[in-house]
Amino acid sequence: MRTIIINNQRVRRQAPACILLLLLAATAPAAHRYDIAVADDFASMTVRAQFDRPVTSVYARSRDAGQYLLDAEDCDSGQPLSARTRRLSLPETGIRCLRYRVDLDQAARDERLYTILGNDNIAVSPTVWMWRPRLGDNDEIIATFDLAGSASVFLPWQPLDAAGKRYRLAASPQSGSAIALFGHFQQALVDVPGATLRVALPTTTGHVDLEPFLPWVSATAASIAGAYGRFPNPDANVLLLPVGNRGCDSDSAVSFGRVVRDGGETIELMINQNQPVTNYYAEWTPVHEFSHLLLPYLDREQRWISEGFAQYYQNVFLARAGQHSTADAWQKIFEGLERGRESAPGMSPNAAARAPMRDTRMKVYWSGAALALMADVQLRRQSGGRESLDTVLGQLQACCLPSAYSWSGIELFRKLDEFVDAPLFAALYRQYADAASFPDARPLLSDLGISLVDGSVQLDPAAALADVRDAITAPVDVDQ
Ligand SMILES: [Zn+2]
Repeated sequence: MRTIIINNQRVRRQAPACILLLLLAATAPAAHRYDIAVADDFASMTVRAQFDRPVTSVYARSRDAGQYLLDAEDCDSGQPLSARTRRLSLPETGIRCLRYRVDLDQAARDERLYTILGNDNIAVSPTVWMWRPRLGDNDEIIATFDLAGSASVFLPWQPLDAAGKRYRLAASPQSGSAIALFGHFQQALVDVPGATLRVALPTTTGHVDLEPFLPWVSATAASIAGAYGRFPNPDANVLLLPVGNRGCDSDSAVSFGRVVRDGGETIELMINQNQPVTNYYAEWTPVHEFSHLLLPYLDREQRWISEGFAQYYQNVFLARAGQHSTADAWQKIFEGLERGRESAPGMSPNAAARAPMRDTRMKVYWSGAALALMADVQLRRQSGGRESLDTVLGQLQACCLPSAYSWSGIELFRKLDEFVDAPLFAALYRQYADAASFPDARPLLSDLGISLVDGSVQLDPAAALADVRDAITAPVDVDQ
């Protein structure tokens, strides 16, 4: 060891330790601080960001963000900063402090929810008001909100206090634009095994009470948790949007749903508040959407895997919960696989996922369901029931969910293979993902004793794999 003098400071220098320290400094996670003050009338927001280290790039996720930015400055130098669409122009040396204001009122008017919301609350996606540096896997932003009186904020980020004023934002994939609510609206916490879901219901023009919907949200989440004993994301959010009978499928109690991965995972469900809550339990859409959380976000080309696994599981979970009969579940799967086989027969699943959805929808929705069924049956057979798709996805959750990035299909299937005694997933991917056909599950359905007679599914109790078939939909006890 020797001592050197740098800038009149004595520094003990030990080569390996010094290199280690430099490496740590270069890779140490960044923790940025945001103080976000929302005006009493929700017309604007003032943000002060203190960066952990100088940042040379600050952007917003939406291309429209620039039009709502009222002003911005480097708060250390007072130098004004300008934006080009969704990126701030910053000095080459970077900045450590950023102050900016956003026209929330205009941004709220341009949001898709604007027409259904009442005056007590606004919805504005963080994609148009959150200007931030790119976050590495371990970087975080701690954001503290300052809102007047009893006003609240609902965000997809991880809450850090009971009052809902402090949040942690980490790296995440972006599958859409998350919604943030500001103002007075109803929200509740729903405990399910492995998770506390935050459920919000914005205030709309007519009064809707959140309370009656909570047991249904809880039961739906619990049916997903039944796969391996816990819900896949401990911090998931559920946003209920009461649209009456204006949804895509106006006869349904839940007419449309989607999962938004953007700073966290939010399940958005359009509900017809005029239908009795008892109608909600047997709906396919919410179970499908919740099931998406069993997998990480997948690249667009492999969305046939995420859609297919959700199609398979929505039927399995509703049968396990007793909301549909076992025969109903297999009928839906049988017919879905047939529709998938007839859809875009000249295309591979990967090609179908790249093509316009109107031409390939059934191929995209059912190719992955065929693979899920094939893998589930093979796992149960080769392990004597010890392994299943449920147990493998449980191990995936334990290692990797929720995930900070978007996965490729082969990456996912290789990871799943790490959890089983006799790997099979990557082989299924290689066989079917780029093959111009549909994964043919008909021989397997026959072995399972599932056939269609005069349009109705028949389940053969004497089939070779009848016990495997019945184990897939057997009721699961979920401790709540
Ligand atoms: Zn889906």
